[in-house]
Amino acid sequence: MSNFWKALKRAARATVDSLGPGQYTVEAKKVTCPHCGHQEFAEGSAQLNTTGMTFIGLDWANKSAYTLLCSKCGHIEWFMQKPERL
Ligand SMILES: [Zn+2]
Repeated sequence: MSNFWKALKRAARATVDSLGPGQYTVEAKKVTCPHCGHQEFAEGSAQLNTTGMTFIGLDWANKSAYTLLCSKCGHIEWFMQKPERL
């Protein structure tokens, strides 16, 4: 788990990574991990305009998705809008 965490932290954008895990809301609702119920996440993003995503029909998005990684269990939530950090 620790190696995964380090790898993900390296992959995260530096400006976001420097903040560390935090609490977020999407559509005015606090984001809670559906697996463990934790409410602190590390924010990241992923490009969706890859060959694989086009193949499965998501090329309409052709943008970045936002990811929130649960800092407790490692579950990743995906959003197409930017979560607001509290
Ligand atoms: Zn969790």
